[in-house]
Amino acid sequence: MKSVRIKNSKEEFPVGKILCVGRNYAEHAKELGNEVPDKPVLFLKPASALIYSGGEIIHPVYGNELHHEVELVLLIGETVKNANKVEAEKAIIGYGVGLDMTLRDVQNELKKKGNPWTLAKCFDTSAVISDCVLKKDYSLKPDEKLELKVNGVIKQSDTLKSMIFNPVEIVEYISSVMTLEKGDLIFTGTPAGVSRVYRGDKLEAKLGEIATLSCTVI
Ligand code: MG
Repeated sequence: MKSVRIKNSKEEFPVGKILCVGRNYAEHAKELGNEVPDKPVLFLKPASALIYSGGEIIHPVYGNELHHEVELVLLIGETVKNANKVEAEKAIIGYGVGLDMTLRDVQNELKKKGNPWTLAKCFDTSAVISDCVLKKDYSLKPDEKLELKVNGVIKQSDTLKSMIFNPVEIVEYISSVMTLEKGDLIFTGTPAGVSRVYRGDKLEAKLGEIATLSCTVI
């Protein structure tokens, strides 16, 4: 079983569900020609898709346009269902930075057919995560910066202020649909600037000064 690693701590959180929010930054929704949603767009990834900083993203053979999506990741620390604001805030125990790797050409075909995004989003190594920082050790700033570099060149850079739904609203909403439990992860959506990566590319992601990850596409 995979676990979330905690910075400067031996504490481990076995990974439960991986929830992902789509279209949570208006500029990103626009760049893909999507409407800005009035509720969070949700999908799931399996825990088996998860790798850590220093790992290798295996480019699937059945798609061509593998895209990076850098995202704030929330770590859930307790069971919560139908959370109000206070309960949602309390359920978030930590933060990290992650990559929601996406086969864009495959996703576009699936969207056209009205099919689920599984093939585009759930392949092995499609979720990358940094070590997480616990909220008791660091309070996330509302304007914390998210950044992604490919081979040293900045491709995505924005602050959490640009999110349509903030972390508390996301947890409130998801918990109205399904129970969230300790060890669940929530990828909260990506800012504009997604682009194709190729085998051999080196990806580096940062959330402010608190979390970093790097990995290579093979
Ligand atoms: Mg995403």
